[in-house]
Amino acid sequence: MRLENRVALITGAGRGIGRAIAEHYGREGARVAVADITLESAQDAANAIEKAGGTAMALAMDVTNESEVDNGVAAIVAAWGGLDIAVANAGIQHIEAIHKLAYEDWRRVMNVHLDGAFLVTRAALAQMYAGGGGTMLYMGSVHSIEASPLKGPYVAAKHGMLGLCRAVAKEGAEYGVRSNIICPGFVRTPLVDKQIPEQAKELGLSEEDVISKVMLKNTVDGKFTTLKDVSEVAVHLAAFPSAALTGQSIVVSHGWHMQ
Ligand code: NAD
Repeated sequence: MRLENRVALITGAGRGIGRAIAEHYGREGARVAVADITLESAQDAANAIEKAGGTAMALAMDVTNESEVDNGVAAIVAAWGGLDIAVANAGIQHIEAIHKLAYEDWRRVMNVHLDGAFLVTRAALAQMYAGGGGTMLYMGSVHSIEASPLKGPYVAAKHGMLGLCRAVAKEGAEYGVRSNIICPGFVRTPLVDKQIPEQAKELGLSEEDVISKVMLKNTVDGKFTTLKDVSEVAVHLAAFPSAALTGQSIVVSHGWHMQ
């Protein structure tokens, strides 16, 4: 097992990519704090980890709420004595052209991704610095490096997370903290399923064409990235033994973006 006895926090882990990482970390021996804005989904994921023989706790944590983030991290440390890995994964999407976008929608997307990543980072680093080191992981996207139409706030926020990841790598090094960002292509989760009809409407295409001509157009093989692909990268980055791998963006996208 690659993460035996490590303590990990994953935000937005009640479903989708976060849940896949939480379950994979559980199988690799980590004690997993499953955090989500809805306690019910976090509890469901934590139950699944325990049922599979792992150790987990569920936390109600809105990543945009400063005290919920700080209290959640404090609860992890009180229960398990420290924090080794934090994955800032919680995210939302909003499909609309920039010239029509309400300020409120712009702010909501930036708030969850960027402010949320900052709050989780600050709370986690305080524990990691005190405990002699750790690993920060960010759930970026190919949109941390590329842009697409109709996703202005998401693209801006994901680029911002890349910057935060790199700043943490620079500052964290002397405290033994590594920081990396995973940049997936499209993965079939509720976040993506919701945007297929939305993009079809905005672009005047069929849903099939949104998948083949928009989402997967630039992949090498026309395939979606899978939950397992992303969780495997998240395990690898968390388990990596040295700071040779820090400040990096790992693109997992069937060749949509090559760097
Ligand atoms: P999802 O919608 O399936 O899951 C997102 C989870 O985040 C949900 O459980 C939701 O409750 C939670 N969440 C939303 N707002 C929150 C908040 N304020 N506080 C705490 N939790 C909150 O989405 P997903 O596809 O699993 O996406 C997870 C991450 O991966 C996001 O950051 C997303 O941008 C990123 N990502 C997804 C894809 C993809 O194709 N699915 C590709 C690249 C990056």
